[in-house]
Amino acid sequence: MSAEPDGPEDRLRRFTTIWSRAVYPVTSTSLTRAEFEEQLIPLARRLSELLRAHGFDGDGAKAVGAALVGAHCTDPEALTRTLDCVDAYLVLYCAGDGPQDDARLRSSRLQHAMAAGYAGALRERTLAEQESIAQAALRAQGVVAQALHTSEARFRAVFEGAAIGIGIADLDGNVLQVNEALLRMFGQSGHALRDRRVQDWVHPEDAPQTWKLYDELVRGEREHYHLEKAFNRPDGTVLWTNLTVSLLRDADGNPQYQLALMEDTTERRLLNLRLRYEATHDALTGLPNRSLFFERLEKALNAGEGQRFGLCYLDLDGFKTVNDSLGHAAGDRLLVEVADRLQSCATAPGEMVARLGGDEFVALTTGPGTERKVDELAERIMNVLVTPVSIDGRDLLVRGSLGIVEGPAGERTAAEVLRSADITMYRAKSAGGNRSELADPEADARAITRHGLTTALPTALERGEFFIEYQPLVHLGDGSVRGAEALVRWLHPQHGVLGPDRFIPLAEHTGLIVPLGRWVLEESIRQARAWRERHGEETTAGPLRINVNLSPCQLSHPGLVQDTVDILERAGVAPDALCLEVTESALIGADDDLLKPLHRLAEMGVDIALDDFGTGYSNLANLRRLPVRILKLDRSFTRGMQQFPADPVDLKIVEGIVSLAHSLDLAVTVEGVETGAQAEQLRILGCDTAQGWYYARPGPPDRLHDLALVDATG
Ligand code: C2E
Ligand code: MG
Ligand code: MG
Repeated sequence: MSAEPDGPEDRLRRFTTIWSRAVYPVTSTSLTRAEFEEQLIPLARRLSELLRAHGFDGDGAKAVGAALVGAHCTDPEALTRTLDCVDAYLVLYCAGDGPQDDARLRSSRLQHAMAAGYAGALRERTLAEQESIAQAALRAQGVVAQALHTSEARFRAVFEGAAIGIGIADLDGNVLQVNEALLRMFGQSGHALRDRRVQDWVHPEDAPQTWKLYDELVRGEREHYHLEKAFNRPDGTVLWTNLTVSLLRDADGNPQYQLALMEDTTERRLLNLRLRYEATHDALTGLPNRSLFFERLEKALNAGEGQRFGLCYLDLDGFKTVNDSLGHAAGDRLLVEVADRLQSCATAPGEMVARLGGDEFVALTTGPGTERKVDELAERIMNVLVTPVSIDGRDLLVRGSLGIVEGPAGERTAAEVLRSADITMYRAKSAGGNRSELADPEADARAITRHGLTTALPTALERGEFFIEYQPLVHLGDGSVRGAEALVRWLHPQHGVLGPDRFIPLAEHTGLIVPLGRWVLEESIRQARAWRERHGEETTAGPLRINVNLSPCQLSHPGLVQDTVDILERAGVAPDALCLEVTESALIGADDDLLKPLHRLAEMGVDIALDDFGTGYSNLANLRRLPVRILKLDRSFTRGMQQFPADPVDLKIVEGIVSLAHSLDLAVTVEGVETGAQAEQLRILGCDTAQGWYYARPGPPDRLHDLALVDATG
């Protein structure tokens, strides 16, 4: 036997053979199976090309679906078998050497497009058929009218030969005649149908106008009507039809009979249901997808006065890590398991679970008592996540952050509700995850304002909406003002004055911090120069110095050193009048490259202060590596000294830090001094300078000038 492996062409043939074997039995064709298979080869080849093509070609796959209809595979079972066959064998025989996962994904997209193409072609064909049915109906009406009076035989031929179901009843609804096709549709003998009355065929799914149209027709007020109607077959199954009913009049024009033309649409309806299912459900988990969820949410929000809804928005914590470390297949299995568990949480009427995408799920509850029900739903969800998910022999812990929104219908749009749920979920996540949070309009408003602020930031700088306040730095030994820290504020046209905590993080996030920081530096150095001019070159304590805060992003910006030098030179201010404040956290783990600009600035004479010292890791050993000259002790230390006597532990810590700092030749500044008692305590502990409300709140530059002057003369 030959050990030669199959070539691509052989594999394509094999695929085609399997396909034709599956589909041939349900195809009404006069071809032999071999001939039929020949017909499928170009379609198989096309599919194989589409599978391996660079981009996804949905139209190509639709054309293959449409070609199936052309090949008389009009029985929806033919489509089902085709899709099964493509699903099972296309990748196997035609994918080549590429990644199998990609090919699988492509194959399932191809199947969707094929099904859509198939349905489209079938619909067009049906429309064409209906057109000829309508023609036949017109002819039949003429023929029937005549036949009843003249040629019975000719009418019979049309009646019996028609491929669609035809029935004739009198105006009381007694069925008089039915043709073969109609009997086949009902799966019944002519006798059984002929003894029925039309009015007996009421079906629960009848459209509301169905029987009104019927009454109008039998009263002679309408010539015909057309609708979709369901009938119960004797075996209990449902027959769906496209029904056209026409009124037949006698030679004098008086209403005499009613003629029904019926087309069996049951299979097509099932196919449509399947397509609708696929369009509204997530392929991986089988849960309703985003579009179906939106449909339901909108319905709940439009439910009318007095109705309420509850929504849980779940995002898994750390799902990306699972995907990255265990692979997408494991990630998918985790999602499927989570989906199953969530599904089990929302089984009551009015409840649903959906997957919005990725690792985001939602659960909706409607009906009475949603205030209580949504809490219970959230609790059930958090509970089902507790048990680890076992994948490839590993137990994975699943954690999630849940945002809960509950409220009355009619107040918000679906998009607004979902945004609120999303914001709330993020609040749960940023509080550490593995918890649920309840939506809070104020928190929503803050998040929305944050968004608004972010978009308004860039123009704010251009429009000059920022300004700087200065807070004096006072020498603890003699109480003289030695300088000031520049603290930026934003005069927002709507929100008024905003503190840096509201917008500095946003500016850091968007990168605007670089131009904003440069502006603060420029402005405050200009201010330092103005003080000096008004104040005289020297006070007893030397020139007033200016402290400017630097963000981590500014530190890593390549223009930092050059910009600073330029600004100082332009203002004619010596580098030693400037102190740059850098937070400890910005320098944690900093490598030499990041520290280089700071070293350069320090070499030039600019002081570097380590801001908020004590809030981070406070790695004292690290201090040696840094070009720092000043430690600014965080406010949390001074807080413990508000009362007299101060907390002895705080005192010990501060004392230790001060003595260590001094031994490393660092000066110590304390922040947040609010009382005289604190100031005294800190002076005794050996701190050098202080800053805080006890001396002055941050304020306009002129006030600082006055303070310094009082102090110099007084
Ligand atoms: P920081 O550098 O630690 O500034 C000290 C903060 O403590 C200031 O808050 C100041 O108003 C406040 N403060 C001063 N004395 C007292 C006191 O006695 N009691 C209390 N409770 N608070 C006091 P502010 O102005 O809100 O600034 C907050 C932070 O924003 C600053 O902390 C600084 O990190 C940052 N920041 C301010 N301006 C700028 C800037 O121009 N650029 C950058 N990158 N960050 C800035
Ligand atoms: Mg500071
Ligand atoms: Mg600070």
